[in-house]
Amino acid sequence: MSFSQFGFHPSVMAGVRAMGYEIPTPIQLQAIPPIMQGRDVIGLAQTGTGKTAAFVLPILQRLLQGSRTKVRAAVICPTRELAEQTCQAIDDLGQQTRVRSIAVYGGVGMDQQIRRLRSGVDIAVACPGRLLDHMWKGTIDLSDLDVLVIDEADRMFDMGFLPDVRSILKCLMKPRQTLLFSATMPEDIRRLVQEVLRNPVTVQIGQTAPATTVSHAIYPVKQHLKTPLLVELLRRIETESVLVFTRTKYGTERVAQHLQKAGFNVTALQGNMPQSRRQAAIDAFREGRCKIMVATDIAARGIDITRISHVINYDMPQNTDAYIHRIGRTGRVNKTGEALTFVTSADMDMVRDIESILKTKVERRTIQGFDYAASAPSRDVRLARDFRGRPAVDPGERARYPVASRGSRFPRWSGHSAGVSAERAPSPLP
Ligand code: AMP
Repeated sequence: MSFSQFGFHPSVMAGVRAMGYEIPTPIQLQAIPPIMQGRDVIGLAQTGTGKTAAFVLPILQRLLQGSRTKVRAAVICPTRELAEQTCQAIDDLGQQTRVRSIAVYGGVGMDQQIRRLRSGVDIAVACPGRLLDHMWKGTIDLSDLDVLVIDEADRMFDMGFLPDVRSILKCLMKPRQTLLFSATMPEDIRRLVQEVLRNPVTVQIGQTAPATTVSHAIYPVKQHLKTPLLVELLRRIETESVLVFTRTKYGTERVAQHLQKAGFNVTALQGNMPQSRRQAAIDAFREGRCKIMVATDIAARGIDITRISHVINYDMPQNTDAYIHRIGRTGRVNKTGEALTFVTSADMDMVRDIESILKTKVERRTIQGFDYAASAPSRDVRLARDFRGRPAVDPGERARYPVASRGSRFPRWSGHSAGVSAERAPSPLP
């Protein structure tokens, strides 16, 4: 099996070679032929499977024919990071095609985007809210759209973006090819598919099953000992880059600070950071200047860094889908990785759910010599230790007990663990 079987134009093949791809991944093998035939396609695949190239390559091929005066392909995706990353993939794979792409998302000024759009763009990779803003303002013209990709549809649904996606779809008049990618198929996405896609071909890669290149382990621990355990673990295991997930933005900052104090080279990524700081954090991690990144789920979908050897779930994800997405950051194509999850007694239901999707019992590990019996510091000590005068209790913890959060300085929990990198995600979310 090689990429030559797809019959791509030499300039598209040049991008494949430049990226060092030799063998198509299963999603590419299954999805590229029907996409090249112009069929609507549902791709049930998680990130890390090579799904981006599965739609980018046929789009590049298609754009080589026909006029290049208006936007001819649009990719709607949930987060800024994913938009940037997809644009990067288009630039990398399309480096010999002269196809021009733009990432369109909120949180940054519109003027620069408008200037770029005016100067001529073939592919717009956009978060739904900002795309709608441009459509309403008349600063993007999608009247010539040939291909629409709805990427990570389940994530967009989780983040409450489905109404925006529907509004965008309503405004698109011309019949077009529609491709929808999603790791899972919740009922709302199924309905959307029925309404929008025409006689679609479904391709399915390891649906809701994590990559087999990832091994899993659980570290039972009391809540107050998670940070010392993390420090100890990072000292003992051999790692390349490590992505640590916390449930809340506050937790991200707190854990990153602790690791820094313990002497680790660490960066943090959470939704309250301005775009420039986020990008700087991602760049530092990608380039290996920081070996450890602590992040909220914002990063679960956004980060494509092949040498992440370990994903550590400092906090248990909200559901099994989130677990799969988080651990999808490691064990990327042709690599292996480890997913290590800290588990408190409150997390046992989730452990059972994870084991049921993995279809195996996950290994329990302890660290020899670690004081698992150490008692929690008193509340006074915790308050004194906290930075910026905030209570040391993680607001995410309050979230589990909504009544307790009433009237607190922290916003109340809304029930979702949605990443906040999306342009319209409300800031209280992790
Ligand atoms: P994605 O699932 O699109 O996020 O891709 C995950 C990673 O796999 C990215 O770093 C891609 O560059 C890489 N990738 C995609 N297709 C291939 C391939 N055929 N061979 C090797 N790596 C690939």
